[in-house]
Amino acid sequence: MIPVTKPFLPPKKEYSALLDEVWNSQWLTNMGPLSKKLEIEIANYLQVKETLFVTNGTIALQMALKALEITGEVITTPFSFIATTSSIVWEGCKPVFVDIDEQSFNIDANKIEAAITPNTQAILATHVYGNPCDVEKIQVIAAKYNLKVIYDAAHAFGVKVGEKSIFEYGDVSTCSLHATKLYHSTEGGLVFANNAQVFRKLASMRNFGFAGPEAFSELGINGKNSEFHAAMGLVNLKYIEAIHEKRKALTELYDEKLLGTTKITKPIWHQQANLNYAYYPILLATEAHLLKVLENLNKNNIQARRYFYPSLANSTPYLPRQNFSITDSVAKRVLCLPLYYDLTEVEVDKIAKLIKL
Ligand SMILES: *Cc1c(COP(=O)(O)O)cnc(C)c1O
Repeated sequence: MIPVTKPFLPPKKEYSALLDEVWNSQWLTNMGPLSKKLEIEIANYLQVKETLFVTNGTIALQMALKALEITGEVITTPFSFIATTSSIVWEGCKPVFVDIDEQSFNIDANKIEAAITPNTQAILATHVYGNPCDVEKIQVIAAKYNLKVIYDAAHAFGVKVGEKSIFEYGDVSTCSLHATKLYHSTEGGLVFANNAQVFRKLASMRNFGFAGPEAFSELGINGKNSEFHAAMGLVNLKYIEAIHEKRKALTELYDEKLLGTTKITKPIWHQQANLNYAYYPILLATEAHLLKVLENLNKNNIQARRYFYPSLANSTPYLPRQNFSITDSVAKRVLCLPLYYDLTEVEVDKIAKLIKL
């Protein structure tokens, strides 16, 4: 079977060597030496000032909303993973959906202003497939209406806009280091904040709001991660360039085999951004075509995923159903093809042939 994704596993020996350090230090969690080292190495790799290693990408989003004191309406995208919406609802805020842009599949910045009300406090947008949102335009709108900006950058590890890491945009940016992501620590997440005070607040919130052994500085949660997860993150970081190269080659092969007809297209990437090859999404002309392609692949033991389908604005039991013409149309026609480190060029060739049948 060819799965749609497969977690990268480093040589077991290298992971075991770090576990020996855990056994020596007997420090298992709570911002231990490996977690601290991971935060420094990730910040160096991404060329950002600092980051917090947290439990997962979902807690990262919840902490971002809490740290920015968002309690009202949050403008967001219906084309994302469920955690983008559920974290808003979980924090007692109200998601206000805005349709996506036909080319990038990200929130349409031109439609944000029309959704702003006196209760709007923030914009929470996803860099879908790692493709940056229109960060400049969103910043202008946020400044004009005094809104906070949070980016769900779960897909965007390693992406830069010009010379600047994507994680430096917005008031807070979050990333997921889940096993299925491009770069992972088994379970894990990252939080980035531009403002040092917000960053310190997030750091305290991650650890129950402790300001000392007997003092609390704010409402907190347990957003910490363990030394075992940090160890996986540290080893995997050594392979990030190799992972990148492999995914790039596979992506270019898919492009060569699949593109060039109007029946199959891809989202248009931000002009100043590099690709991180996190996913291989294709957009088909009709849903019927997509279902046929999916059937062909499944019959041949190949998985592909309708990611994201259905739209978050008409699929949760806890929100009223709303239709958005572009989101609904794209969600019905988009398919993510297998893409992972162990995938071979022969397999890509086979997948491409089945798609073109
Ligand atoms: C994976 C993902 C998340 C959630 O991250 P976890 O680490 O699994 O909690 C949030 N948003 C998007 C867009 C994701 O793809």
